[in-house]
Amino acid sequence: MEQQDEEIKELTRLLNLVWGSEELAYERLNRLRDSYNCDLFNAMLSLVQVAFVPESFFTDLLGNRTSAGSRYEPASTYMEATICLGPRVLESTELAPIVLLHEMIHHWELTLAQDLYLFEYPSTVDVLIDRIFSDPIRARKWRATHSKRFLAKAHEISTKREIDLATLLYGHMHLRR
Ligand SMILES: [Zn+2]
Repeated sequence: MEQQDEEIKELTRLLNLVWGSEELAYERLNRLRDSYNCDLFNAMLSLVQVAFVPESFFTDLLGNRTSAGSRYEPASTYMEATICLGPRVLESTELAPIVLLHEMIHHWELTLAQDLYLFEYPSTVDVLIDRIFSDPIRARKWRATHSKRFLAKAHEISTKREIDLATLLYGHMHLRR
């Protein structure tokens, strides 16, 4: 419990330092979420909450890391759809909006994407994925949760907004390499 308190304090310190305060961080990211929804998803996305979570949120019971520092939680009986952002994402005001967008694509895919949506993208996207994941097992694992439809949408958005595609696809993992 004490360690959890310490982690929360650490997160608050980080938010104060990087964003000015926790409130300002929520304000900025919520505003970005709304403008992304308008500009990139035709204002069709249902509400998705943004939540800041400590690092331990991303470790399983065995202490293994389960994510690169962010996670999309689909809506359930207990909670609304939520995008969870951890310290490794929140430590950069440049990275956090891109990771937010990545998780919004998951939300879009789960709640809105139709089978009819054309999921075509240039073969350079596959080349990029293979290049970043030098380990084919890791590449396969990643692809299992990022469909062609996801890739097509990410490619479309990265082109439209001039966002580095590798960062949009891998976020933090990519930056740390
Ligand atoms: Zn993802």
